[in-house]
Amino acid sequence: MLILVLNAGSSSLKFNLVDMSEEKTLADGIAERIGLSEGFIRWTIQGEKGRLELDMANHKVALSAIMDQLRDTVLPPGAEVDAVGHRVAHGGPNFGDSEVITPAVLKEIEDLAFYAPLHNPPAASGIRTAQEIFPGVPQVAVFDTAFHHSMPDYAYTYGLPYELCQKLGLRRYGFHGTSHKYVAEKTAELLGRPFDACKIIVCHLGNGSSITAVHNGRSVDTSMGLTPLEGVVMGTRSGNLDPGVLTTVMEQEQLDAAGLSALLNKKSGLLGISGVSSDCREVEEAMGKNRRARLAHEVLCYGVLKYVGAYAAAMNGVDAIVFTAGIGENSADLRAWVCDRLTYLGVKLDAEANKVRSKSGRFISTPDSRLPVAVIPTNEELMIAREAQRLTANA
Ligand code: AMP
Repeated sequence: MLILVLNAGSSSLKFNLVDMSEEKTLADGIAERIGLSEGFIRWTIQGEKGRLELDMANHKVALSAIMDQLRDTVLPPGAEVDAVGHRVAHGGPNFGDSEVITPAVLKEIEDLAFYAPLHNPPAASGIRTAQEIFPGVPQVAVFDTAFHHSMPDYAYTYGLPYELCQKLGLRRYGFHGTSHKYVAEKTAELLGRPFDACKIIVCHLGNGSSITAVHNGRSVDTSMGLTPLEGVVMGTRSGNLDPGVLTTVMEQEQLDAAGLSALLNKKSGLLGISGVSSDCREVEEAMGKNRRARLAHEVLCYGVLKYVGAYAAAMNGVDAIVFTAGIGENSADLRAWVCDRLTYLGVKLDAEANKVRSKSGRFISTPDSRLPVAVIPTNEELMIAREAQRLTANA
């Protein structure tokens, strides 16, 4: 079965073509600057990198050009994709699982733009485009929020008037669900234990970061909330704040909601604190001589450390901690900062193993560490392809 995985942003379209017989990625890439000048598509197809300069008026032009490339290279003559899996950021209160797209599902995804104005509208447009380009091919929506539907009400309820929360759907939803589930499953495999019988803390740390407590195969708490702003500091997002900060800044700086949202989403986090960059690698490079870069990094590390402690408490114990995504997989500095302060939980970091770069999952704790710590590369695209296969194999 050939599955095309699409992740549509407002001016971009990421794609992966996965052969499910071996769960192998045949092609992946991204079309960028859709709807703008100087558009381009870059890809890796069967290990070969390529690039096409192309102005694309919309997602349909982009997807057509991507399919032309795939047909010229990896798709066997006459073959078509068997299903399309779409990454959808927000599934709101109703989608606790992936869904085969129907008109009603698509409408609900569009209506959920209320929660995710930057993410759900492009995802819906990606779905419409794929429906036009692949008529009759089943399409599946895989929601970033779905894995977190298992959280108990006391973990997802905000301390606001209950009726207001009911009316507006205000609650913790959580994100990166496909990544947390994939990485937690892989961790259980690495531990040699059943997924439904262990307590795992997954630290997904990238441009956007979230940390999840996975208890017996289910998400029981996660650091992101109604939106992907809550939790640890991120590239440009603030993470947790005293809500009083918001009213103070709005009043003092005369900001409206849009101005505040831009401040919290685009100008804060590592970028805001360091003044250097939103990119963790650049912050790390600068922190030897730049005090604010060092501070930004420490604020992130400290945030991760506190969530690990909180989630060990939430699960009344923890069997493994795992780091994933761009920072989690690559920043030995961050991992060492955090692990060196987890000796009370029994963590013994293997300093050499922590420095090794590898694309496969591995432990970075010593063999006699009471609490194992692992690094596992995430693979959200494969999870989306698996979901698309699961829901359409018998269609
Ligand atoms: P992602 O959103 O998962 O692609 O992660 C992007 C983040 O990973 C950026 O902040 C990068 O700077 C960070 N990153 C990638 N490689 C490294 C590295 N070697 N050391 C520190 N951070 C890294």
